[in-house]
Amino acid sequence: MTHAFGFRFRLLRRDLPGSPDLVFPSHRKVIFVHGCYWHRHEGCRYAYSPKSNTTFWQSKFEANVARDRRAASMLETLGWKVLVIWECETQNEETLRLRLIEFLKSSAGSDQHGG
Ligand SMILES: [Zn+2]
Repeated sequence: MTHAFGFRFRLLRRDLPGSPDLVFPSHRKVIFVHGCYWHRHEGCRYAYSPKSNTTFWQSKFEANVARDRRAASMLETLGWKVLVIWECETQNEETLRLRLIEFLKSSAGSDQHGG
């Protein structure tokens, strides 16, 4: 067990779809930390397109995104809540902290709205 911002989590549960980066078993929540470039963070300046071999890279990127989407929907089917944190969002520790707290505080299975 490891601690981040007061929350207990496990690192890398390979038995879960997509091998989430952070797993919070007691909250039944997982977090993926995605690289903006490889996972195509929409509208992000780090998710620029390569200038050569565009077809090759395009299909590689699409496969990554499709895999991410599949993993997230499998996890949700299993009753896990999924949060994706982009690499560019980890640069601001305060923003990151608030996002984590927001995500972990919302109780699983509740029907509260907003956010
Ligand atoms: Zn980004």
